[in-house]
Parts: sequence; C-alpha cells; structure tokens
Amino acid sequence: MRVIMKFGGRAVATGEKIKTVAHLIKRFKEEGVGEKGKEKEEKNEIVVVTSAISTVTDTLLDNANRVAKEGNTEKAKEFVDELFKMHELTASEAIDDKNELEKVKEELRERLAEMEKALIGICLLGELTPRSLDYIGSFGERLAAPILAGSFQSAGMEAVHLTGGEAGLITNEDYGNAQLTLNAEREIKARIMPLLENKIPVVTGFIGETKKGTITTFGRGGSDYTATIIGTAIDADEIWLWKETEGIMSADPKIIKNARKIPYISYIEAMELSYFGASVLHPRAIEPVMKKEIPIRVKNVFNPEDEGTLIGKEAEQTKKAAKAITLIENISIINIAGTGVRSISDVAARVFSVLAANNVDIIMISQGSSEMALSLVIDSAQLERAVEAIQSINAGGTVIRDFTFNSNVCAMGVVGAGMAGTPGVAGKAFSALGKEGISMIMISQGSSEFNISFVVKKEDAYRAAQAIHDVFEMGTGA
Ligand code: ASP
Ligand code: MG
Repeated sequence: MRVIMKFGGRAVATGEKIKTVAHLIKRFKEEGVGEKGKEKEEKNEIVVVTSAISTVTDTLLDNANRVAKEGNTEKAKEFVDELFKMHELTASEAIDDKNELEKVKEELRERLAEMEKALIGICLLGELTPRSLDYIGSFGERLAAPILAGSFQSAGMEAVHLTGGEAGLITNEDYGNAQLTLNAEREIKARIMPLLENKIPVVTGFIGETKKGTITTFGRGGSDYTATIIGTAIDADEIWLWKETEGIMSADPKIIKNARKIPYISYIEAMELSYFGASVLHPRAIEPVMKKEIPIRVKNVFNPEDEGTLIGKEAEQTKKAAKAITLIENISIINIAGTGVRSISDVAARVFSVLAANNVDIIMISQGSSEMALSLVIDSAQLERAVEAIQSINAGGTVIRDFTFNSNVCAMGVVGAGMAGTPGVAGKAFSALGKEGISMIMISQGSSEFNISFVVKKEDAYRAAQAIHDVFEMGTGA
C-alpha cells in the first residue's frame, strides 16, 4: 500500500511527539500488506509530509513584521538564537543516535544562518514584501523536516528530507497563495518515485518553489494541500492526515458539548466545511484527489487505532439532512446601498473589483431582489482595508448612498449532502432559531444546496449553533 502521511504542527510539537510519529511510521512500514498467515510480500510505501512545529509559523511571521518595523538587527539575531535553541532541544529529544543528532544540528544551523541573513536584510530595508514573508514563513517546515528525518534514521529507518521545491512542487509567483504549474505533478512523480524503493521521503508541507528557485507558500494550513498534491501525483492508495483531533467533527467540541466525530464524509461536504471556517482541512486540499478518487483519512496521532474520519467520493445515504455546523467568529458584515443612479450590477462590479484589488476575501454575499442593496461578509482583520477601498470608489457620491458595517456578528455554515433536494431544511433550521428567539441578520445558500450559511449577532452565536446542532441531531450516529 502506498500512503502519504501528513503530520500537523501539534503532532510534532515536541521531541517526544516526534518519537511517537517515528514509531507509528515504523510499525506501519513493517506491517506490509499480505494476507494473514501468509508471508508478507509487499512493504508499505510511505511519504511523510510535515508541518512546522506548532506555533513556529506564527512566530516567524510576527517577527518578520516586527523587525521590518523596528529595524533592530540585534533583536533579529536574538530571535534566530531562540529559534535555534528551541529546535535543538526538540531534535535532542527526538533523536537518540549521537551522530545523527550532530548532523541534524548542523543542518539546523545552516538553515538558520540563511534566515538570519534574510531577516537582517528586512531590518535594514524596513520593508517586508509578500515574497520575503513567504521566504521567512517557510523556515518552520524547513527546520522540522530534518528533525523528523533524523528521528526516523535514529529509529532504524532510511529517511531523506526534501523541501517542497526539491519534491517537485513547482509553482507560479503568487506569494502566499501559490498555484502549481502544469508540469508539477509530473515533476513530483519523477522526484519521489525513485526514493520510495528504499527510503522514506520527508517533505516540508506548506511550501513550493518557482522555476527560478524562489520559495512560495500555499497559504496557512497548506501542509494538507502538499499531502494531497503529492498523493495525487504518485497515485497513492490513501492519504492520511494525522492531527491531534479525533477527525472531522459535527461542530467545534469547545462550543458544542455533544459534538461527535463524523466517521464518513464526501469530498464535497468536506470542501464546504473547510471553506466555511472548519479549521480541520486546508480549503484547497480536497480538490486534487477528486479526479483519481483517492480516499483521505483524518486520524488522531494519539489514538492511531481509531478509524478517524474517512473522506471519499460518494455522499452517504442517510436520513440526516445536515451533518455539521461551522462557526466563523471574527467577521464583519458590510451593507452597501446604491444611489439608484447606477444599476445594482454596476455597483456590485465596482465594489467587487476594488475589494479584489485590495486582497479582501469575501466569505458570503447576499442581495435582496427589491433593493438596491448588497450585503457582504468578510474577515474582520480585513475590515479597515475593505472600508477604505469601498470609500475610494464613491468620489462624487454617485455610486453608494449608504454604507454601514457591523463587527458584532458571527457567520455559521450548515453542511450536508442530504440537504440537496430535501424540502424544509432551511425551515427546520430557521424555526429552531426562532424558538430560541434568535433572528438572522443575513442568509445565503449555495447553488449546490450542500450548505446554508447565515449571520447572527455575536451574543446569539453559540446558542444558535447548539440549536441547529440539536434540531438536526448532528450529535448522534446514522
Ligand atoms: N505551518 C503552516 C501553518 O501554520 C502550514 C501548516 O501547518 O499546514 O499555517
Ligand atoms: Mg497547522
């Protein structure tokens, strides 16, 4: 069996945890496939994809921003030292073999020397471009991969670590959200397949490289995407995403007490969930596997025997119309009323293009048919940028009559393939909210009918989520 195994940041957060990963891989590698009782013929082939050690990516990006602002080269050096010490400690816990450990430490030192140069450059220029942000952000994975490979070696396996670029993930120059080039799949196959015969490739998640050799990233949480891309390129039998959670849940268990693990979910449903705030999967991770129908499993590193969640092609036949609910908390709603001088499509065209030009991502859109008004939901972190952008198209006041925004709101997405073509789903959801005395500020339904999303006041959000979760019995099986 050929399997991609991706480990999230929290699964590799300490040296001990990395050792757990090494044991898990070793066991799986040696299990092989073959019928019970007969000699095992075929060994499992494994590609490992790793995230940065938990919180490292955030720290890198924060510090890049800070040094660009403050221009203090001493502070930049201090930060690099801290990062070295932290990874050195992790490595010494994860790697018993002394020679292997020394080799890995040397690699960490070399990589960090590169990063220090770049950070000092950023300090002196006082400027942080998307390109340098990707470069600095890539070091989390580039420090983690040698440690994992070293730990595997130390546990008696043959392992080799590769950056995304070395593994063939060649991208365009769309920094922060890089797209693979058309040849990438072929390239990945050519570079990974020969290694599988006798080695375990350990590939950095999250990062790619342009043809010219500049580092790019796939956006936060992008290691899932790396795993599914590699899996697709080398025709893996399965892709296992190891996390520190049970699997994909019916709701966030921190908010909904009786949230349960969903044993099976279709590609489309998982995609809807990841686009709508469920942080279990990178939004682009499902897309690559759909054509080849490669199953994905979301599994818990600390309970490896558990089946986790299986993601596959077919939508399950169940009586349950809606399977899961997600909540996006830090959002703002923007209401724009046109002046009536221009058509609503003209107003919408102007608004959307100026928002796109300013990199504002729109989470939801709705427009009432009788009104010259448009409502949009965006991430609150982008609100200031969005407001300025919208104001900029209203010189002379001929486009927009009235324009308000509200950040005291939450968006919710209800997802389930059973919703398509089932009458009364929206009614059921809305009357559940009505019973709780919660009113909806905005509603939108995708044409796939696999999701309904709506906005409520922040103070109502958790109660609303619980009411929906209850009315669709999301907390129980079948
Ligand atoms: N390390 C990256 C992040 O924190 C990518 C990932 O974890 O998947 O976003
Ligand atoms: Mg992560």
